[in-house]
Amino acid sequence: MRRSTIAVDMDDTICHLVKRAIYHNNREFPTHPLRYEDMMDWNTDHLRHPDSTQEVFFGRPGLFEELELYDEHVVEEMEKLHRDYDVLIVTAGQPGTIGEKWNWLQKHMPFIPLENFFVSKRKSLIQFDLLIDDGPHNLLPAIEAGRKVLCIPHPWNVRFRQQYDFPLMDSWKNAKERVDQLLERN
Ligand SMILES: [Mg+2]
Repeated sequence: MRRSTIAVDMDDTICHLVKRAIYHNNREFPTHPLRYEDMMDWNTDHLRHPDSTQEVFFGRPGLFEELELYDEHVVEEMEKLHRDYDVLIVTAGQPGTIGEKWNWLQKHMPFIPLENFFVSKRKSLIQFDLLIDDGPHNLLPAIEAGRKVLCIPHPWNVRFRQQYDFPLMDSWKNAKERVDQLLERN
């Protein structure tokens, strides 16, 4: 039987990008503090200081290497998934951040080989069976293509979750079991 392929997003799926970006934003622009709960949309330009551009907010040198793991279970569960499935990391990245993302992965999940590291914004081009992601723009095309998904809940996908009944995963605890169940492999 063919090994199933699991595509796993990076930012805010296996690590916390937005929370760290907010931390730096609030230190640098204390007159315009952001809260995680305020992040109801991708675009929070109107909430940030004019000098806190997208580039400053998400493009701070070194930012992607200092991100915290999503939780205390994510490494163990990713390793279990990697043993039984083809686990691909699929991340949208700017040219300047890709090296940092790969370094982060090497530090925290060195069992993921380089050939399983995909940088793309068009995730639907990849032939996966199941996608673990927080981005509605990635989850919806996957569902429409008849693939399984696990949605990592965040404020920016609340509206989307109200509209579509996606399976949610707010902790990586027992993630391998959830994936087995969704792919009907018990
Ligand atoms: Mg993401």
